[in-house]
Order: sequence, then C-alpha cells, then structure tokens
Amino acid sequence: MNRRDFFQKTGLGSLALTTGVVSSCTSTTQSQFADKHFHINRGYHQIPKLRLSMDRIVKETVGLRPFRASGPRLDTEQLGNKTIVHNYGHGGSGWSLSWGTGNIARQKVLATPERKIAVLGCGTVGIATARLLQESGCEVTIYTKDVPPNITSNLATGTWSPASRVCDPTVAKPEFRSVWEEATRFSHRRFQLLLGMDDIAAWVEEYSAFDEQPARSGAVAAGGEVYELPGLIPERVRLSQKEHPFKAEYVTRRSNMIFNIPTYLRHHLNDFLMFGGKVKIHEIKKLEDIDALPEKVVVNCMGLGAKPVFNDEELTPVSGQLSCLIPQTEVQYKFNTKGANFIARKDGIYLGSNGIVGNWDTTPSKEQTEKVVTILQKVMSEMRG
Ligand SMILES: Cc1cc2nc3c(=O)[nH]c(=O)nc-3n(C[C@H](O)[C@H](O)[C@H](O)COP(=O)(O)OP(=O)(O)OC[C@H]3O[C@@H](n4cnc5c(N)ncnc54)[C@H](O)[C@@H]3O)c2cc1C
Repeated sequence: MNRRDFFQKTGLGSLALTTGVVSSCTSTTQSQFADKHFHINRGYHQIPKLRLSMDRIVKETVGLRPFRASGPRLDTEQLGNKTIVHNYGHGGSGWSLSWGTGNIARQKVLATPERKIAVLGCGTVGIATARLLQESGCEVTIYTKDVPPNITSNLATGTWSPASRVCDPTVAKPEFRSVWEEATRFSHRRFQLLLGMDDIAAWVEEYSAFDEQPARSGAVAAGGEVYELPGLIPERVRLSQKEHPFKAEYVTRRSNMIFNIPTYLRHHLNDFLMFGGKVKIHEIKKLEDIDALPEKVVVNCMGLGAKPVFNDEELTPVSGQLSCLIPQTEVQYKFNTKGANFIARKDGIYLGSNGIVGNWDTTPSKEQTEKVVTILQKVMSEMRG
C-alpha cells in the first residue's frame, strides 16, 4: 500500500487535503502538523534509547541461583516425627515457578492431617508457598535466616522465565517435564491475577536483536532455557529491517511479564501478615533445629541454604551479576542482545546478566559492568531515530 492509498483507506485523505490547503497558505501550519504522523513518517517502531554511562550505574549485585541438575527438589521425606516437604533449587526460574511449585508443595501438605505448618525461608518461593497454604486454611509460621531485601530473590532480574536454568535436561528424569509444565501453568494463571495490582507485575514489550538467529540454548546444562511451553505468552515475532530501529539483522519482539521485585515481595509479605501469618528470624543450622520446631509439617524453601542442612551435593550456585541504572521514565521495555540484556523495572533499569556455574563469590566485578555497558552503548548508538 502506498502512502496515498493509506491515507484514503484510513480516512485521513480529507485531513491531508485540508492540511495541504492550509499549508499552502501558511508555512507555520505545515511545521505544526509535521509531527502529527510521526510514526507513519518514520515507518518503524519508535523505541526510546537507553542512556548509558558508568556514572549512571547506582548499584551492582551478584545473586546465586540455586541450581539442581535434576530440577527443583519437590519430594517429601520423613525425619523422626516431622514431615519435610521440599521446595527448593529453582535455578534461574524461581520467581516464575514460585506459585506453581508452591501449589505442588501445598497439595503434599494438605495430604497430611496437620494444619499448623512451618515454612523455612522467606524468599519468593517461601512467601508464595506460605500464602497458598493460608488460602487453604493453614496456620503458617515462616522461620528464616533473613527477610527481603537480604535474600537471593531480591537479586533477580524479575522476568517470566519458567525454564531458565531449571535443570540439565540430560540429567533430569523424563517425568520432570510434566511436573515443570504443571507448575508453569499454575504460576502463569496466578500471575494473571496479580497484573494491575500496584504494578507488582506487568506486561512489557521485549525486543531481541542479534546478528543472526540465536541457537536454542537448551542443551547447555545450567545455561539456558531448557523447555518451551507455547501458547502461554505471545510468540516472538520477527521484525523486518523496516519495522525496527536496530542495526542487527535478526530482531524479534514479543510481550512478556516482569515482576517489580521490591514492591512484589512487600505486597505478598504484607498479605501473609494480614492473614495472620508469623515471621520468625531463626537460622536452621542442622536437622535437630528442624526437629525442635513446634510444627509437625515443615516446608523447606531455603534455596541454596538447604545445601548444608540437607547435605544436598547436587545443589550448586550459578552466580549472576546485575548492574542497575537510574530509572529512565520513557524506557519501559526489555532488551536482549549477544552478551547483554536489560529490563526496565520501577526501581531501576537492570543490566545483566551472566551465569557462572559453581561460583560462590558475590563480589560484583567492575569489568562485567563495563562489558555490558559497552555492548549496550554500541547498540544504542547504532539505533535509528
Ligand atoms: C541474577 C539473577 C537473575 C534471576 N532472574 C530471574 C528471573 O528473571 N526470573 C525468575 O523466575 N528467576 C530469576 N532468578 C532466579 C530466582 O531469583 C531464584 O530461583 C529464586 O530467588 C529462588 O528463590 P528462593 O525463595 O528459593 O530462595 P531465596 O530467595 O534464596 O530465599 C531463601 C530463604 O531461605 C532463608 N534461608 C536460607 N538458609 C537458611 C537457614 N539455614 N535457616 C533459615 N533460613 C534460611 C533465606 O534467608 C531466605 O529467606 C534469577 C536469579 C539471579 C541470581
């Protein structure tokens, strides 16, 4: 369709005509209307550029993803007179799967006659599990070493990524796939109910710009998106060169969900307290500490903290560094390219993120920040518009 046809079909022909008549009389009117069809004139998606410089970085963090090659631990074990329901080891997908694996843990708790329940851990997994148990009529106490913001969950990107580093598919049992799918579907439904509530969860546009179509990273054990579940969020759409402002050859767009981490955790923790839940600062150092708790049923949501207590050799950290830029109001999208990505949250624009398997060091590296800033600066400087 040429420009003239477009104006006729959209009914703008008469407006254009009028404008033309007026503009022939006065040149100021023409410049006044020049921006009116800004998008039509440019012909591609207008995406605000991210302002990047090292002096706009206000925070750097390194979080440790709790990775298990066989997938999160979700079994039940009996320790003396205590029933322990495990719910830990979610890798890079703990935010996304929190409600889903929380629901699996809830079903196991409800299969016991007990209704006074202990939840160990106050991360995104522990809080979601505790809320679900309350919704089923349980009286819940959270026992935890730390509360937000001093937990791993506070150091996450905060995007819907239920398959990210969730297992090593060459190690996980085939039946894990259906457990993951059940958890993913449940979580997805739950997040739909949270959208629009104080901005704790939101839909954003996500652009990916690569020089060539990236290979699926699922084969990389602790490094990638292991599974796919089509139909939950819109598929990626490839954009033609004319439709996007990036220099890259292979550009896609899709809508995705993000979680505004600080407000999200506060919201759910407040709900937990409002429904009569209790939070006790209490470190579990050994199994005897669990035995000493008054509750007979205990849900273990201690993330990496479960490793020494349960002697879990499989549980390994995958460290990830994020560098936080001052928020930029007009930048409200998520972006991925080779070696770097960013996500615009309410509390800042988070650049990242890498993944180092087996690394326990949480010291941020200036070089990592500089590397990501340099990659993104180049992308932004090459953008049209
Ligand atoms: C850089 C990075 C980016 C990420 N991005 C995403 C993302 O975009 N989307 C996504 O879905 N996931 C993401 N993740 C993964 C996600 O953050 C984790 O899977 C999730 O935070 C795990 O939650 P959790 O509640 O199990 O653990 P934690 O948040 O670590 O909570 C564990 C809780 O247990 C308590 N605890 C630990 N040890 C003990 C003890 N001995 N006694 C008592 N209490 C104890 C802690 O104090 C804490 O309260 C990311 C992670 C990182 C590091």
